Amino acid sequence: MRILFVIIGFILSASGFADTPDPALVKTLIILDAGHGGHDEGTAVQMLQEKRIALMCSLMVRNFLDEMGYRVILTRTKDVYLSLPRRVSIANSNRGACFVSIHFNAASNAAAKGIEVFYCDNREQKRTRASQKLANCILYHVIDETNAKSRGVKKGNHHVTRETQMPAVLVEGGFLTNREERVQLKTKIYIEKIARGIAEGIDKFMKS
Ligand SMILES: [Zn+2]
Repeated sequence: MRILFVIIGFILSASGFADTPDPALVKTLIILDAGHGGHDEGTAVQMLQEKRIALMCSLMVRNFLDEMGYRVILTRTKDVYLSLPRRVSIANSNRGACFVSIHFNAASNAAAKGIEVFYCDNREQKRTRASQKLANCILYHVIDETNAKSRGVKKGNHHVTRETQMPAVLVEGGFLTNREERVQLKTKIYIEKIARGIAEGIDKFMKS
């Protein structure tokens, strides 16, 4: 009889009757969003496409977070187009603990360089404060890993950081339009430094 109850319990939980997700699992789910994709290349300079670097960096961040014991969902794992609302809906429906969108920058001024992290002040005080803290943690560790110029943590109004329901940031990992940074962004080893910094920043935030 006891075995029967165990079996029924298993069937009920497997079929979704246990509809409250395990808080421990939800707490450690990180959503990573590689910017652009498919026909949306983002910025592109001399064969170097933002969409490709963003995806490579996001996959590396996932590996680092995996090793640290986090669950990770990527909004895209391939070179496909994804609308901004779709990215937000993946984050919100999976109830991620935080959301990190990864981009690379461009400017008409070729001297512009460095790394900046955006969060959105959308008047939800608690989430805004948490997003700002996540941005600070990530920027600190990415600069520590790369020795790149810090352009600071900034307020922005990007769709993905505004509409998500968890602490959310958008990382601009360097300028493809700056010669010095472009040379580095062509190398796997430099992208890996950025990725390690992002993962360390997320870990710091989650443990704070
Ligand atoms: Zn972008």
